[in-house]
Amino acid sequence: MRASHYFISTLKEAPSDAEVTSQKLMLRAGLIKKTAAGIYSWMPLGLKALRKVENIVREEMNRAGALEVLMPAVQPAELWEESGRATHYGPELLRFKDRHDRDFVIGPTHEEVITDIARRDIRSYKQLPKHFYQVQTKFRDEIRPRFGVMRGREFLMKDGYSFHSSFDDLVREYNNMYATYTRIFTRIGLEFRAVAADTGSIGGTGSHEFHVIAETGEDDIAYCPDSDYAANVELAEAQPGSTVHGVATEALTKIHTPGVKTIADLAAFLNIPDTQTVKAIVVESDDEVPKAVLMLLRGDHELNEIKAQNLEGIKSPLTFATPEAIATAFGANPGSLGPVGFTGRVIMDRSVAAMSDFVIGANEDDYHYTGANIGRDFPGPEIVDLRNVVAGDPSPDGKGTLALCRGIEVGHIFQLRTKYAEAMGARFLDENGREQPMEMGCYGIGVSRILGAAIEQNNDERGIIWPSAIAPFQLVICPVGWSKSDAVREAAQALYTELSEAGVDVILDDRNERPGVMFADWELIGVPHRVVIGDRGLKEGSAEYQGRRDASATAVPVAELAAFVH
Ligand code: ATP
Ligand code: MG
Ligand code: MG
Ligand code: MG
Repeated sequence: MRASHYFISTLKEAPSDAEVTSQKLMLRAGLIKKTAAGIYSWMPLGLKALRKVENIVREEMNRAGALEVLMPAVQPAELWEESGRATHYGPELLRFKDRHDRDFVIGPTHEEVITDIARRDIRSYKQLPKHFYQVQTKFRDEIRPRFGVMRGREFLMKDGYSFHSSFDDLVREYNNMYATYTRIFTRIGLEFRAVAADTGSIGGTGSHEFHVIAETGEDDIAYCPDSDYAANVELAEAQPGSTVHGVATEALTKIHTPGVKTIADLAAFLNIPDTQTVKAIVVESDDEVPKAVLMLLRGDHELNEIKAQNLEGIKSPLTFATPEAIATAFGANPGSLGPVGFTGRVIMDRSVAAMSDFVIGANEDDYHYTGANIGRDFPGPEIVDLRNVVAGDPSPDGKGTLALCRGIEVGHIFQLRTKYAEAMGARFLDENGREQPMEMGCYGIGVSRILGAAIEQNNDERGIIWPSAIAPFQLVICPVGWSKSDAVREAAQALYTELSEAGVDVILDDRNERPGVMFADWELIGVPHRVVIGDRGLKEGSAEYQGRRDASATAVPVAELAAFVH
């Protein structure tokens, strides 16, 4: 690319309403133009960097086995009525009517649209799993759009949605996405941290956010420098590793439950509607009182092998790191336990905590106990409420003390489980010909936010310092005396051709500007590598190379330049 053909429009000063560094620099470098509050146009330089982020995301999503689709920005409001989010989502959801007076929304996210597709096209377990993703423009009517593209109203998101025939398989894909996100943010060149997260209005259970560490971040992150514990301080729930002591009391009533082997059996036996959400906790008591497994799972999960005999050999108090570990300890299929156990947020669900009449298993076949009460009979998990945490507080994993930092949320992965499938009737036939709701995961990346976040982490008083992988140009050639010196022009053009042919994303500044103007522009724009070609150097057969972070330039023989910068 030649700068004279390109669009370069830099500003000395940032607009007075710009608040944070990345926003100021993106506007000054001419990467974006503000069109309205929280709504931006992407100019060629900005778009080039945005596409580089997008391509990395796309390459890694494809490599991970996800399938790209493109869903509409405009969605019928009916779908949101069906999922129950029409009211729940609140004023961030932009609504409007078409000429026929039908209600529509501009999509802030696409769970409803994709679940609608899945329920119509996926019928059998043989078609599962499937993971669809898109890179698409979202609209959220943010109450306080700010920080430029970091909290826009219109923004570019990569959103993926996976469908599964079992919870095990959802967990497999969730872990696949955790690894994929780690690869994506590493490739982009960000300093980031994955943290345990609250699931917010999207709903569901297991969830992690990926945060770019930066002082201007809007989220507080608590982490333990001595272990891998990290969580968003919004989190206030039971944590993996919590301990439960089983202290079942005489208040429990033993009931004969012949033939009850599954949750569905139990629900039928107790006359609990199948759709009622019930929860599970695994507890153990000392040897005098029966060991017990609480059986209030969801109506659609089998209890399978979680029977009394599997409790043998469990030592009190129980400490299991994850629901999977609980299931393993009980020799059960992890899918049958769901995201539950005493480590999960389900226990903190108020509607559950308020329930006092749990049914638990006895360590005898065909018997259960009723009347179990969390709080009285079981202390329940330790609740980790990080909302008022201060640096130096003990880490919930017991491995040290907590430190605090600020983070910018650039990615978020969720185990949605069957929330949308149940609300919208997305069912499939399993191996036994039984109809089941699909297990679902969803995975978001703030593609446009990443640019702001990357700049927050990489800048100096002169401007942006792009991580190489997402720089709009890798290298700029600055000829000093473009119009005056044939030697300079020829050397600059020859280098430009050579580098372009070698695949380097290079721009030649042929605008015939003074060196000071050229350097200031490219330093502001943040191009990682610069080569200055001038008559003085050429006499000695050399040009000057300077990396964007280097304090001074290095003379490099012209003949070796291509090899040097490549
Ligand atoms: P936040 O907490 O910052 O409001 P969110 O939790 O509402 O974000 P998600 O629903 O998890 O966002 O969406 C997935 C990703 O989309 C986020 O991790 C973030 O990177 C990006 N994102 C969300 N809202 C915005 C926004 N207003 N502008 C730019 N990117 C956004
Ligand atoms: Mg939000
Ligand atoms: Mg958030
Ligand atoms: Mg989020």
